[in-house]
Amino acid sequence: MPVMILTLPRAEVYEQDRLAQANDPAAIQYMENLWAGVDEDLSCLLCDAVAERPVHSLIIGSPGRSDEVTVVPVCQACMALPRLVKWNRASRLLRKMHQARTGKQRHYSFHVPHRR
Ligand SMILES: [Zn+2]
Repeated sequence: MPVMILTLPRAEVYEQDRLAQANDPAAIQYMENLWAGVDEDLSCLLCDAVAERPVHSLIIGSPGRSDEVTVVPVCQACMALPRLVKWNRASRLLRKMHQARTGKQRHYSFHVPHRR
C-alpha cells in the first residue's frame, strides 16, 4: 500500500479545517473528499494499517513553505493517540522521507486536525 502525501495550499486547508471543526457540512465534505479520488486503500502514515474511510487527515505545515501544507492519512487508532505522540512520529517519518528525497533536513510544524 502506498503512503500518500498531499501538498495543498495552506490558506485553503486551514480555512476548511477550521470550518469542519465548527461542523460546517461543506467543509467536512471537503476534508473527506481530499482522499476520495484515491481508489486503493491508503495506509496510515504512522502505523501502516489501512486508514478507514472517511480517512482522517493529519495537517502538517512546513516553515520552509509558508504557502503550503502537507496532508497525510492516518487510521482511527492513530488519530486517537495523544497529539504529541502523533506529531512526533509523523514529523520523524516525514523528515526521513524528505531527506531520502532531497538529502536536505526539513522541520515540520503541526496543525490540529479536525475531530469528528
Ligand atoms: Zn495508524
